[in-house]
Order: sequence, then structure tokens, then C-alpha cells
Amino acid sequence: MTDSDNRKAWFSHRLRPARADEVGVGWYGGHPRGVPNELWPRCAVCGNPMCHMAQIDAGPWLDLGDHARMSLFICHATGGRCEDWDPFKGSNQVLLHRHRDDNLYDGPPTVRVYRRMVLALDDMLDELALMTRVREDGLSMSEALEQLRHDKLGGGAVWLQGDSTPLSASGEAPMRLLLQLTTELVAFDITPGGMAYVFFDPDDSSPGAAHMLWQSGG
Ligand SMILES: [Zn+2]
Repeated sequence: MTDSDNRKAWFSHRLRPARADEVGVGWYGGHPRGVPNELWPRCAVCGNPMCHMAQIDAGPWLDLGDHARMSLFICHATGGRCEDWDPFKGSNQVLLHRHRDDNLYDGPPTVRVYRRMVLALDDMLDELALMTRVREDGLSMSEALEQLRHDKLGGGAVWLQGDSTPLSASGEAPMRLLLQLTTELVAFDITPGGMAYVFFDPDDSSPGAAHMLWQSGG
């Protein structure tokens, strides 16, 4: 990692509902575009088709390596028995797409569909500057974390149950946070007050380089 990459890892963008005149960077809920039926993720534990959660496009706000878009899916077929919070069990999945396809509308008709919300970004936030205020200006850590406890792209994860950052394939470096997702914009069927986190493995150039996990808020 270069110094400039290190610096960039501290920048985040808050996600919020897009206004009618804004072009979004993605959406929560709805039916995903560009996911053919044969590629629709199925739960590795129970075998059922998963529910679509979000699609977010790469850009200056989101570095997906060679990929243009990510699509998030989670199993809600068994009420949590598939352990859908685990980043490696296969009961949730992050699909990375080389190309954006906004036209293809495919997939199983029986899967639950969440309310669609188009997402836009707030201005970039420098989280390192915020943490410097904790160190130097007496801002309390809990207050600083409260300022980051929202849906966002990049920056550091605000953990609810302790740091669970997955390690990259080399087993040495922590993966990089792509997305932190609350249940406040769309109440996905993860525990209310819970948060989901999507991480990217820079050592992995495959479409399986991103992993999602979530923690409960209680
Ligand atoms: Zn399942």
C-alpha cells in the first residue's frame, strides 16, 4: 500500500436517499439489474435463492479494483439459521461485476424484495481528521464513532460487537471496508439496530473478493 492509498483508506462518504434531481451511485432493495437467473446466488447452507439487498457502482467514491459494480445478497429463507452474519459461510454473498448492466432483469420470482431506495452521497469525510480531534482536541471516542455511525462507503467500521475485520487471502493484511450498512434507511431483515459491513480483499482478483458480515446492535 502506498502512502496515498493509506490516506485514502480514511476517506468516507455517507450514503443517503437521493433527491429526485440527483443521479444515484446505487440503490438498496428493489430487484437487481444484470444478474442472470443462472448466476443468482443461492445459499450454500440451505440451497434457497438469496434476497437482494443492494447494488452500488464503483467510482471515485468506491474502489472495487477491476470491477464496476457490487451486488449484495443474503439468505432469509430460514430465519437466520443459515448464519447469514458470517462472512465465509456462503449464506450471504457479494457479487462483483466487470460491467454494469442496467437492462437485464432476471432471477427467481419468489424471493422477497425489499423497498427500493436510490442512494446518493454526502461530501467526503476525512475520518483521520476526526480521529486526530480525539487524540488532540479532547473529542471523546464514543462521540467520534457516533459521527460515523451511518450508512457509508469507505473509512473505518464502527463495530457494535468488537472488531471482526476479515483478513485477506494472504492471511496477513486486514481487508478494506467498502460499505457499512445500517437498518435505518431500509429495515433489512437483520436485527434492528444491527449493522452490515462489506470488505474487499485486495489480494483476490476474483469475483469473490468481497465479503459481507453483520453484527447485532443489542
Ligand atoms: Zn440459507
